[in-house]
Amino acid sequence: MKILTLILLLITTTSFAGKHKHHKKSLAKHQHGAVTMQINIVKNEFNLELTSPAESFYEFEHTAKSDKDKNTVEMVNKDLKENILTYLDSASLSDCKIMSSELKQEFEGKNHSEIHLNASVKCEKDLASRKLSVTLLEKYPRIEMLQIVVTKEASKADIFKVKSKKEEITL
Ligand SMILES: [Zn+2]
Repeated sequence: MKILTLILLLITTTSFAGKHKHHKKSLAKHQHGAVTMQINIVKNEFNLELTSPAESFYEFEHTAKSDKDKNTVEMVNKDLKENILTYLDSASLSDCKIMSSELKQEFEGKNHSEIHLNASVKCEKDLASRKLSVTLLEKYPRIEMLQIVVTKEASKADIFKVKSKKEEITL
């Protein structure tokens, strides 16, 4: 058993040392409570990418084995995939619809993992200068800081650091 673990570790280390080096670095350094959201706007559409240590949403990072943990993962994943616009401001984004969304969890050893949400959103009207009231921290209080990076065509990225339960940002 120990030998098997060692071999697995060696394989993992070798593969990470190669092409996945950069990736390993980002996971190893992840800071619990620090969540990033990238919003890329093109006219009336945007792509949203949320990256977070799993702990901020599930309250744990190991593989879900108990029914309780599996249930938590299922509930949170469903919530993020379907309701992310609610936590950005359902009123301001009332003309918007999630066209597709996917979420995956990536593990780093036994004790750490990250979740990645990717959603593609389409709105009826142009998104420029809309004000959003962000309430993700109210729903998931383990988040200490949510960094939102907003990019629009040909303009510089705007970076917002959301630290309270309800904070306004302008697209
Ligand atoms: Zn972790």
